[in-house]
Amino acid sequence: MNIADLVRRNIRELKPYSSARDEFSGEAAVFLDANENPYPSPFNRYPDPLQKKLKERISELKGVSQEKIFLGNGSDEAIDLIIRAFCEPAQDAILITEPTYGMYAVCADVNNVAVKRVPLTKDFQLDFDAVLAQADTSVKVIFLCSPNNPTGNLLDRNAILRLAREFQAIVVVDEAYIDFAGTESLTRDLDENPNLVVLQTLSKAWGLAGLRLGMCFASSFIINILNKIKYPYNISSLTQQYALEALQDEQRKGEWVREILSERTAVVAALKELPIVHQIYPSNANFILVKVENAPLIYRKLMELGTIVRDRSRVILCDNCLRITIGTPTENDILIRQLSELATAELTSKSSS
Ligand SMILES: *Cc1c(COP(=O)(O)O)cnc(C)c1O
Repeated sequence: MNIADLVRRNIRELKPYSSARDEFSGEAAVFLDANENPYPSPFNRYPDPLQKKLKERISELKGVSQEKIFLGNGSDEAIDLIIRAFCEPAQDAILITEPTYGMYAVCADVNNVAVKRVPLTKDFQLDFDAVLAQADTSVKVIFLCSPNNPTGNLLDRNAILRLAREFQAIVVVDEAYIDFAGTESLTRDLDENPNLVVLQTLSKAWGLAGLRLGMCFASSFIINILNKIKYPYNISSLTQQYALEALQDEQRKGEWVREILSERTAVVAALKELPIVHQIYPSNANFILVKVENAPLIYRKLMELGTIVRDRSRVILCDNCLRITIGTPTENDILIRQLSELATAELTSKSSS
């Protein structure tokens, strides 16, 4: 498979903008090259366009070498850049397996790139034949999400790798929830699969959604393409500094993950006791998908009580489903108490009618 052939021609031939910090990136006594204000403010200097210090730490944490890492303003930036690098507007397509994260289709729509939609199976796994049937030569990128949002389950690793081997397209695996999954990342399969791209983020387990830092792991060829088309200074100095500090404390992240997983078990056990809960799908993430008696109604009642969950009932394969994020023990107790009260009220109204 020749990845270069998948890249849009104008992108392949693009001569990227070269910033002052690209042309000189070392140490010096006097910097008069970037038209910055010379007077001290904490942010008078432009940030490192390639975030070398931060990538050094991420490389150490993830066991992926630095030239295989791209950092974006959230994973969302990487999703958008991948579509722009590989999909010719009004000609090419992406393929998504639904239900899944909404941003893949939105970014494709913004770029006037068609979206081929293939449903997952009833147990939310890849329907391999259905994917292959839709995957014609216009499909340049396949987006998979594992653990999947909103269903919470991991996709079968062998099915993902088989798709990457057999299909001539970029296969993106969004691992936003991998820290909760208790399995190894597909980053370890990058070397054997030049068309594989793995996305992770600091927005979930690391507790830094407001910081906006997404990680993209791929071959150095693909990473170079993304670097060529990104905004020159896409990650602010503040984000780079703060993320570097936060990434020193891997232990704290581990404690949060353990606490959230143990709370998830407790929430699932409590929900199982409620008659308005019909099904709780197995989760490898920090949320659960729950099929209930009447999702829009329960969503609205919870909202009136001050608790916001996500109503996914209009999403394919998710009839009457709510997506519930696992919160602190106190927050989860509130949710369970409110749902039990709603269940009691529901039963009372049923028996009296
Ligand atoms: C939350 C989430 C992200 C995170 O996106 P950021 O832009 O990094 O905050 C990415 N993918 C999926 C599937 C998500 O659920």
